[in-house]
Amino acid sequence: MRLHTLTLHPLQIPFKTRFKHSSAERTLTQSVLVAARTDSGCLGLGEGCPREYVTAESIASAERFFATHRDDLINTVHSITDLRQWIQSHAATIEQNPAAWCAIELALLDALAKDQHQSIEYLLDLPELSGPFHYTAVLGDGPLETLTRQVQQYAALGFRDFKVKISGDPSLDNAKYVVLHAAVKAPRVRLDANNLWSTPDQVLAYLDAISINPCALEEPLQALDHTGLNTLAAQQPAKLILDESFLSQTHFAPIEHRPESFIINLRISKMGGLLRSLTIVRMAAQRKIPLIIGAQVGETSILTRAALCIANICGDALIGQEGAFGTLLLERDITDQPLTFGKNGLLATDLLTSSAYGLQMAYALKNLPALQGE
Ligand SMILES: [Mg+2]
Repeated sequence: MRLHTLTLHPLQIPFKTRFKHSSAERTLTQSVLVAARTDSGCLGLGEGCPREYVTAESIASAERFFATHRDDLINTVHSITDLRQWIQSHAATIEQNPAAWCAIELALLDALAKDQHQSIEYLLDLPELSGPFHYTAVLGDGPLETLTRQVQQYAALGFRDFKVKISGDPSLDNAKYVVLHAAVKAPRVRLDANNLWSTPDQVLAYLDAISINPCALEEPLQALDHTGLNTLAAQQPAKLILDESFLSQTHFAPIEHRPESFIINLRISKMGGLLRSLTIVRMAAQRKIPLIIGAQVGETSILTRAALCIANICGDALIGQEGAFGTLLLERDITDQPLTFGKNGLLATDLLTSSAYGLQMAYALKNLPALQGE
């Protein structure tokens, strides 16, 4: 493959409804889109979601990272082997810019696979997708009326798996749990605190004060407080889901002595792309640590599709998938057929264009004004 151009564009797609959790509230996507055009006429697209409170990245830092490395990538990467070598020789800078790299890597993988008339799975030596894939309902930390409406919509679709973004106020959150249990029989509930508390004792007090026993609790303490997380794990039975506290393979070490207490929320963007995510999956399997394949709020079908590569190989280690909101949340997606869950939270892979290569999606260029006239 020879790259003709490589470009990065901020991607701001409005949401149909606002989404709130304890670290942020947003009404439009905060993402970057990378387009890789080959001399042979293929277009590869990649997406990343820089977040200050997850990986200390921003749109501006992604633009700087991209500008620094664009020419080198165009001149160096002609094959999957070249790409793997580039990642190895730039590990330290990718570690600092994982979402920016994710957008670039996905665009290059999509372009490489298309150039060679392969699916992304074939290119990466992975099994072809064999869904369906099963998604969790995610409830934001909004007003009770909004949550009630969302719960009813999810219940009507047959969802049983819920993740609730909590406020930390037991009386407010108990009202949410009442609504959820009234609408859904025996729901499986995990809670996401988005780094609400500073000490294990504060978390224990909250767990004592709420009316449910969650099967897992995500990010109760400050991000990367692994000492606190290990203390908390020893003091109560709910498994702890690591999201902001698990950003790369270096974060296996602090949870090594009680892996049975933890679950990793693997989001392709924060992990720095597909190849680094595959390494995490393999290392987690060796340690018998289960995974949730998560999503950033506002991901388009590009990141949803990329995550399917990973979910497809996790087997029993996969205990939940999040995302695939497509045009349920976004005013528009950038593919002809958005990858969106349906009844019972299932996503069928027949939404993909089996005759297309790469990420197997037909892009609607009318939804990509930045790329028109390039
Ligand atoms: Mg989270």
